[in-house]
Amino acid sequence: MPRTVHIIGAGISGLSAAVRLANAGHGVHVHEATQQAGGRCRSYFDAATNLTIDNGNHLLLSGNHHAMAYARSIGTEAGLVGPKSAQFPFVDLVTGQRWLLDLGDSRLPLWVFDESRRVPDTGVLDYLALAPLVWAPAGKEVGEAIRCEGTLYQRLVQPLLLAALNVDPPIGSAGLAGAIVRETLLAGGQACRPLIARDGLSAILIEPAIRLLQEKGASVSLGHELRELTTAGDRITGLKFGGDEIAVGPNDAVVMAVPPRAAAALLPGLQTPTKFRAIVNAHFRFDPPQNAPPILGIVGGLVEWLFAFPQRLSVTISSGDRLVDMPREELAEAIWRDVCKAAGVSGELPPWQIVRERRATFEATPEQNALRPKATTSFKNLFLAGDWTDTGLPATIEGSVRSGDRAADLAMRQVQ
Ligand SMILES: Cc1cc2nc3c(=O)[nH]c(=O)nc-3n(C[C@H](O)[C@H](O)[C@H](O)COP(=O)(O)OP(=O)(O)OC[C@H]3O[C@@H](n4cnc5c(N)ncnc54)[C@H](O)[C@@H]3O)c2cc1C
Repeated sequence: MPRTVHIIGAGISGLSAAVRLANAGHGVHVHEATQQAGGRCRSYFDAATNLTIDNGNHLLLSGNHHAMAYARSIGTEAGLVGPKSAQFPFVDLVTGQRWLLDLGDSRLPLWVFDESRRVPDTGVLDYLALAPLVWAPAGKEVGEAIRCEGTLYQRLVQPLLLAALNVDPPIGSAGLAGAIVRETLLAGGQACRPLIARDGLSAILIEPAIRLLQEKGASVSLGHELRELTTAGDRITGLKFGGDEIAVGPNDAVVMAVPPRAAAALLPGLQTPTKFRAIVNAHFRFDPPQNAPPILGIVGGLVEWLFAFPQRLSVTISSGDRLVDMPREELAEAIWRDVCKAAGVSGELPPWQIVRERRATFEATPEQNALRPKATTSFKNLFLAGDWTDTGLPATIEGSVRSGDRAADLAMRQVQ
């Protein structure tokens, strides 16, 4: 029987739940606190560069199956673009060495056996030494499961895990790292094609979802912050938004897809991660050189990934807490020096913007991972979604969509 489901929060988790429910014929009302949907995955016009930029460069991989299915369901899969096969150019800023990691397009990690495709100066045994990570228990740190040193670590494992976990890999959760390795490196090049929303996160992943929801008769209310839940026994019976209050009927459900602090404030006693890590992005208004790869991995510098967009070079620095208080101009200069070396360009600092997301992700350590709650709650018609819930993955778009899909499925099946 069709139900009405209230979705609190219009980030990727909330929107993926909303789209799934609306596509299944349920009534959907999305309530978002801010004036813009997208949460930590959004675009905005930036006056400093005179460009529409994303709050952060977001990289997806072709093996992010839930994220890809979400994009397909809102008609924008083709807007996630990348090279035909899983090739990752890298540069080492200390030695100047450049190489291409070529994972090919197989379903098996056959590239490991081909010297010309793997990381230079590494051998098959180096890759086999990563095996303990693959099924590592949740309570272990990466540094307890594998040796965090050597050429393969510095040139591939460290950049991959730092990007995925957003913590210094040795202290990261080996369980979460193992999930990443299983779903990417171990699944062959076919699962590892790097994909970006070249036309912007909002244009590809957010606005089409809102349009689809509206076409299906769902409502999306911006500036509608949930302040309190009304309960009776084991059910949510009302939602208080400050100015107005909405009754939640006996057949209705609520999906709460808000960040952990907001969720804990609304649901006292809820256990959530309590520590977070920053991501720093810098955007430069600069036409990328014609041969610039869409994504360049950088080792030995301040910058970790360089993205080439039309009219713009953008960089990502994960676990960037050490940089959040650095004077902006100084940081922009330091990053631009790395960009010049990596991209082979020169010149004065062009118009720039730095976005420091202080609470970009929960800290993906075993300790914080253990605090992630399940989607079900003590209320029969209240379900949690969010990249910080217990998805088995670090805080990523893929994890967000999985959490949204799962919460939607639970809401559809809820026990009366
Ligand atoms: C800089 C940066 C770079 C990143 N890079 C990548 C990447 O390369 N690849 C990748 O896969 N992932 C990346 N991520 C992670 C990804 O952005 C997140 O995992 C994802 O966006 C989280 O979505 P969410 O819906 O779970 O949470 P959020 O995006 O936080 O959404 C929660 C929403 O709830 C709203 N809300 C809060 N309180 C209330 C309330 N009381 N009532 C109503 N609404 C409320 C918020 O305003 C927000 O819109 C990155 C994140 C950042 C910040």
